[in-house]
Amino acid sequence: MENINSLWQKVLGKLQISLSSVPYELWFEPIEVLEYKDNKVLILVAPSTTARNQILKNHLGALEDAVKTVFDAETEINVLDAQEKEDYLAEKSKQPSSVTFEDEEDSAFNEKFTFENFVVGKSNQFVYAGARAVAESPGQRFNPFFIYGGVGLGKTHLLHAIGNHIKKTAPHIKIKYVTCEKFMNDYIESMLSKREESKLAMRERYRNVDVLMVDDIQFLSGRAGTQEEFFHTFNDLYQNQKQIIITSDRPPNEIATLAERLSTRFASGLTQDIQAPDFETRVAILRTKAQQERYFIDEDVIAFIADKISTNIREMVALLSKVHFLATLQGKKSATIAEAREALNQSIDTQKENLNMDTITDAVCSYYGVMKGDVVGKKKSKEIVEPRMVAEYLITELLGVPLLSIGKFFGGRDHSTIVYARDKITELIKTDPAVKKAVGDIKSMISVN
Ligand code: ADP
Ligand code: MG
Repeated sequence: MENINSLWQKVLGKLQISLSSVPYELWFEPIEVLEYKDNKVLILVAPSTTARNQILKNHLGALEDAVKTVFDAETEINVLDAQEKEDYLAEKSKQPSSVTFEDEEDSAFNEKFTFENFVVGKSNQFVYAGARAVAESPGQRFNPFFIYGGVGLGKTHLLHAIGNHIKKTAPHIKIKYVTCEKFMNDYIESMLSKREESKLAMRERYRNVDVLMVDDIQFLSGRAGTQEEFFHTFNDLYQNQKQIIITSDRPPNEIATLAERLSTRFASGLTQDIQAPDFETRVAILRTKAQQERYFIDEDVIAFIADKISTNIREMVALLSKVHFLATLQGKKSATIAEAREALNQSIDTQKENLNMDTITDAVCSYYGVMKGDVVGKKKSKEIVEPRMVAEYLITELLGVPLLSIGKFFGGRDHSTIVYARDKITELIKTDPAVKKAVGDIKSMISVN
């Protein structure tokens, strides 16, 4: 077999074609190939944590496509950051005897994320009620419990709230909280080990619990092996009436390449969505946070912030801290509109810097689960045409880029094609709820709602 580095060079060659230059040069070119374990799992080290996240979030499809053609169709990919590389190497160098059936401690929960600190409004009242019911009687009423909604709307907060509640009221119940990424890494690690015990140990850890929470399950997309493992974990827990709680940024049937038997199972219990909060709820959330952190913030400042940021609570709360911070810098006891304006301007500047044709197209691709190379290429199939037109529409709407450059970016299209796409999507937003939702969701992914 060819040496792994020369194979990797071929992968890079393909990526250079399918990706635009910014992500390619920033994130892919500096990748270190750690190993190709058992000719099965390709372990890569990204140049930074951001790079790792960006790759997993926006470019996994392209990476997988390239790797599968160059290496082997069955190849699984694991992208690590520097810390994970260390952990991984440390894990590998351990004596075999350290792989044990050790009973892991229960997951720890953030004590700030409780039901009491969760502000309930129209946008989240049902999901809140569902979460409370699950926390009161895990495994009995709503199983699985599937929560979905956009970034920063409180999904992780609710998982922790359920965890905190159960720990307080029924400490004997065993709860395991993991991100999907952690599950994936555990699975890969257990698979890398030739020793049968370590596979069993992984199963033991995941199946020997009363409540399993998996956060951000959308990252199972494109990972056939991990999906398979999760399928068995799910069935095992479910049959034993153990509670399964899952969150995702989208409903089960919209997770690209999720095996149908999994999406059917995910949707078989209670599925609820979290919407962006209305103005009153946003104000209430800001008040709660200010109180919790002991910030002194004028009421009109709270209203100002709530008015400016509507689709991502995490960002809204971050703006609040920033306002408080700016006031402190000036020795003020209480933050005023002046600090709020300054904080907002600063955050808009950073957002604008990050918004360009690539980031917009990346977000569109990740939303639709399609490859960027196809979207900016020549394909005319239906799965590609809609994302392409949506990307073209968003770029015309959000950036002051000449139509000519947009056409060029999308594989040398004529500017009239771009005008057509813009008008068509404008029309569809009025008549087709799916398109309207897609555009709204993508805008909130890039935080421009
Ligand atoms: P997600 O997991 O959906 O991306 P998080 O649960 O991490 O979002 O929430 C982001 C931030 O917003 C957290 O600080 C969380 O406490 C806060 N938050 C979200 N929803 C609410 C709410 N209804 N009440 C109070 N805080 C909230
Ligand atoms: Mg989360």
